[in-house]
Amino acid sequence: MTTWDYSRPAKPNESERSTDGRNKIFYCKLCLNPSYSCQSLTSARYHLSHSHQIKVTDTETKAKRLRKIVYRIYRP
Ligand SMILES: [Zn+2]
Repeated sequence: MTTWDYSRPAKPNESERSTDGRNKIFYCKLCLNPSYSCQSLTSARYHLSHSHQIKVTDTETKAKRLRKIVYRIYRP
């Protein structure tokens, strides 16, 4: 499980990305009323561990590194 496995898709009236478009907004799957959202995975992880006692062992750094490599390969 990664942090993103605990996120839900944005609702039609919610934005999927932060105002500058750089960060994907994390919406907590377990918090529906009220809903919880944040713009950083650090906050999301903190929220999961403190509100839901879920410790996420993330592979995010690896995924990020992989994306960077892919980007480099396909760059014109
Ligand atoms: Zn939550």
